[in-house]
Amino acid sequence: MLDLIIIGSGPAGLSAAVYGIRANLDLIVIEKEFEGTGQIALSSKVDNYLGLPGLDGYSMGETFRTHASDFGVNFVEATVTEIKQDTADKHWTVTTAKGETYESKAVIYAAGAVHRHLGVPGEEEFSAKGVSYCATCDGAFYRGKTTAVVGGGDTALDDALYLAGLCEKVYLIHRRDAFRAAEITVKKVKEKENIELVLNSQVAEILGDGSVNAVKLVDGRTLDINGIFIAAGSVPVTRYVEGIVDLDPAGYIIADESGRTNAPGFFAAGDVRTKTLRQVVTAVSDGANALSNAAHYISSL
Ligand SMILES: Cc1cc2nc3c(=O)[nH]c(=O)nc-3n(C[C@H](O)[C@H](O)[C@H](O)COP(=O)(O)OP(=O)(O)OC[C@H]3O[C@@H](n4cnc5c(N)ncnc54)[C@H](O)[C@@H]3O)c2cc1C
Repeated sequence: MLDLIIIGSGPAGLSAAVYGIRANLDLIVIEKEFEGTGQIALSSKVDNYLGLPGLDGYSMGETFRTHASDFGVNFVEATVTEIKQDTADKHWTVTTAKGETYESKAVIYAAGAVHRHLGVPGEEEFSAKGVSYCATCDGAFYRGKTTAVVGGGDTALDDALYLAGLCEKVYLIHRRDAFRAAEITVKKVKEKENIELVLNSQVAEILGDGSVNAVKLVDGRTLDINGIFIAAGSVPVTRYVEGIVDLDPAGYIIADESGRTNAPGFFAAGDVRTKTLRQVVTAVSDGANALSNAAHYISSL
């Protein structure tokens, strides 16, 4: 039996793995994406991680993962579909979509978060045909064209600025009249000539003919566009832990900085747990804290 299974190789999982190897634990990291490094791979530029200013998110993720693999971390590429605790001796069994099972004394769950969908007609139909959740991944396809960004937080405004550098015109559609993004970003957006703010408005439907060609708003207006980028926040990946650990009303695992949950031997780290700031720096810190507490738990058995 393994000491520890870490689920997810984003910043939180990789940080836990590095600390785990140094604590001499027998561990594996299960990650569903090929050489995945989590959400940060989607960021065009990360300017707020101490010591690595200006690095693009993909390179930052690679740096983290190389650090872990150079330390001898064993990665398993698979999607975790079931997690169970033995009622007698309390060990954990983790099952993947391939039907493989792994047993361990403790689990660190660091499966992060995913993009929130709008749930409007046309969104699924035109997914990857004009509907995107990652401006830095897909923005280049819209060079010289007209796009819309939906959302009012940092990601939405960053996306609008990024696209404004590529597209002829960018509509920024936000359901309120004020943004939740950093003031400096809001100022830059307002100064950008090819960004048109569409405030107090919401998307009713995404229209197209094979690919997106317009967006219909709830007030009845229709904007002609070639692509739409949805930046409406994220939801935690906690589907497989419902019934195992306590979740808050938004679906985040209830755990403090220690990573401890209500289930003995089950620790949560990174964006997936209850906290106020979801960033690389807090995810990395969570991974270290969760590992430290998991190591204490394992040695106490
Ligand atoms: C576009 C964008 C820009 C950002 N920019 C910044 C920035 O500039 N600065 C900053 O500090 N933060 C930024 N962030 C936030 C930052 O990326 C996250 O806070 C951080 O990645 C969270 O790390 P994590 O390890 O908790 O989760 P994630 O990064 O979400 O990693 C979770 C991992 O778990 C894997 N996984 C999920 N479910 C399963 C399963 N069932 N089985 C196996 N594996 C699974 C996923 O594939 C993923 O690799 C940005 C995020 C986005 C989306």
